[in-house]
Amino acid sequence: MQTIALIAHDKKKDEMLDFVGQHLDLLQECHLIATNTTGTIIKEKYGIEVETMMSGPLGGDQQIGAKVATGEIDYVIFLRDPLTSQPHEPDINALLRLCDVHNVPLATNRKSGHIMLKYVSIENTVVSE
Ligand code: PGA
Repeated sequence: MQTIALIAHDKKKDEMLDFVGQHLDLLQECHLIATNTTGTIIKEKYGIEVETMMSGPLGGDQQIGAKVATGEIDYVIFLRDPLTSQPHEPDINALLRLCDVHNVPLATNRKSGHIMLKYVSIENTVVSE
């Protein structure tokens, strides 16, 4: 089972909910990990299982980064808000850096996320054949 991390900044949370709704069947088959607020709204809206970390500004991005470093996360979908400065910018950069260090696919906008999940669905089909 693939592990996918989901993170959305505040102004991207509605977009994340729409995104998850579009890929619900696939995402239900995956192990989902999210920062606290992102994970909580996904669980509330769709009733699917999501393992939640701390909220991003309180260390959640770092927790997800640690899991990337230890090989526990296969894909990261991080809908960042590129137009608002974030107090936890260093944590965000650290997570992006760790994805590159460990060659973990990272999507930072919706279209990249769609492409990524298309690939995940193809991989799942191949594995189950
Ligand atoms: P949140 O964290 O899901 O707890 O809002 C996301 C972030 O701001 O990094």
